[in-house]
Amino acid sequence: MSIAANIESLQIDLKPIGVTLIAVSKTKSNEEIMEAYDAGQRLFGENLVQEMVEKYEALPKDIEWHLIGHLQSNKVKYIAPFVSMVQSVDSLKVVKEINKHATKHNRVIDCLLQIHIADEATKFGFDHAELIEMLRDEDFQSLQNIRIRGLMGIATNTENEKVIKEEFYELKMLFDGVKASFFRKEDSFDTLSMGMSSDYNLAIEKGANMVRLGSTVFGKRVIKHYKVKE
Ligand SMILES: *Cc1c(COP(=O)(O)O)cnc(C)c1O
Repeated sequence: MSIAANIESLQIDLKPIGVTLIAVSKTKSNEEIMEAYDAGQRLFGENLVQEMVEKYEALPKDIEWHLIGHLQSNKVKYIAPFVSMVQSVDSLKVVKEINKHATKHNRVIDCLLQIHIADEATKFGFDHAELIEMLRDEDFQSLQNIRIRGLMGIATNTENEKVIKEEFYELKMLFDGVKASFFRKEDSFDTLSMGMSSDYNLAIEKGANMVRLGSTVFGKRVIKHYKVKE
């Protein structure tokens, strides 16, 4: 199926059930992104700052760019003028930096807090204790130019559906608990981003209302080979 057909059929499934599609366009060309754009898609996810900046500059300005990869504090300045949402907030340090640069640009930047749910040491994100500690932190609570919209998580890369379902269930319970305890009066705390191409049906079953799909939209990613500098 073409990219356009993929977008159309995904939106037919997801829109009626209130699930927002982020088309993950990392490694994909501007032409491929434009094919999705012309099919009506406006929300795109990238995991690298430089790649996102280049695509932002080249592509239509009504695209909403979501950063979904780990963000280093020293790179916040490059995306602060335009990023629509940072889904991968994983420290107090980086969220303070996002707030600082958002203030400079007179913006409020939407953020999701990334939670470490996978059974893998390599993935970024808060554990439960770290999350609660930050939510209680007075410095954090005083930040005016970020808006915490919800939580994001990446499940373990496994064929074992039981493990994946448990991780998504755990994240949904955490989302409900954090909402009740810290964001009860804030309707804007409304987003639970979980699920990728291999597991988004399980994520939706467990309560996701945002999914991040790369290969389901664009086809498999080809691994890039970089020349070693001589
Ligand atoms: C690459 C990526 C995705 C999309 O992966 P697919 O398997 O291609 O759907 C989703 N979320 C994050 C954080 C990613 O880095």
